[in-house]
Amino acid sequence: MEPIKITIPTPFAVGDVNSYLLKGDALTLIDAGPKTPEAWEALKAGLKAANVAPEDIEQVVLTHHHPDHAGWVDGFDAAKLYGHPYNDLWLRRDEAFFDYHDAFYQERLKEEGVPGDLMFWMKKMKRPLNLMGNRPLDMAINEGDTIPGHADWHVMETLGHAQSHLSFWNPEERTMIGGDHVIAKVSSNPLIEPPYNPEEGRPKSLLQYNSSLSRLLKMPIDVIYSGHGEDVRNVHELVSTRLEKQHLRAMKVLDMLDRSSEQSVYELTQQLFPHAYEKELGLTLSETIGQVDYLLEDGLIEERLNDQGIFVYRQA
Ligand SMILES: [Zn+2]
Repeated sequence: MEPIKITIPTPFAVGDVNSYLLKGDALTLIDAGPKTPEAWEALKAGLKAANVAPEDIEQVVLTHHHPDHAGWVDGFDAAKLYGHPYNDLWLRRDEAFFDYHDAFYQERLKEEGVPGDLMFWMKKMKRPLNLMGNRPLDMAINEGDTIPGHADWHVMETLGHAQSHLSFWNPEERTMIGGDHVIAKVSSNPLIEPPYNPEEGRPKSLLQYNSSLSRLLKMPIDVIYSGHGEDVRNVHELVSTRLEKQHLRAMKVLDMLDRSSEQSVYELTQQLFPHAYEKELGLTLSETIGQVDYLLEDGLIEERLNDQGIFVYRQA
């Protein structure tokens, strides 16, 4: 059976977010909108249209922890909550993780060469926790599992946009519930986030994202029910185009560098996004770091830690 789409407003630039209702051996809601009164009204109305009351929902499953998806997990007391283990660190407000989170970003901003008051940027970049739910996961799910009560929906770990990102694949129907992994209108930002396991160091989000995207090219998928906007029907074509465009963006960054002078991630970001970098520093830095990781991986550029503790890059 097709998932029932519920469109929910958000206060974020991305616009509306989609939740999906799955009817199977369990009644399951995938994603739960941001924790705003408007979103709760939209969720309730969407459920009502499907003849479901909030207290009927038996399970809430998250595609990832971002507040536009993980807000109203608090609205379904009777339901079990499932998702990638990374969600739990946020939803429980894990103090050790939050300390590590802040230290992680401070270190990143420093090595990226961001000047001035780093605490100012840290505060600005912090996720709006008040719009994110606050309850622990009842069970972690991941690659290899199926959604409990929905044996036809297989869990895929699709990291890149978030370190918690899961997609749900239905091979019989050739459909996928894709969260923010693939969005029709915009390319997903490969956000830099602290890793689940601190020993692993900074995740190379764009490389993760590309490999999660490339997996889709080998799968027969007719429709992706996306976390934002309309369904994606030309999946392979869209994925190929996104991968090509990313490659071209990386080549643009390569052109900005030469063999003699070196530049930091911050300097590259200023040139790539002259009008956006101050307002959206976190997003734009993530984009640039992605291209830098990609070029490093291909051996096209070289990295050096300078005497101010800033990573600088030049053509190889
Ligand atoms: Zn997201």
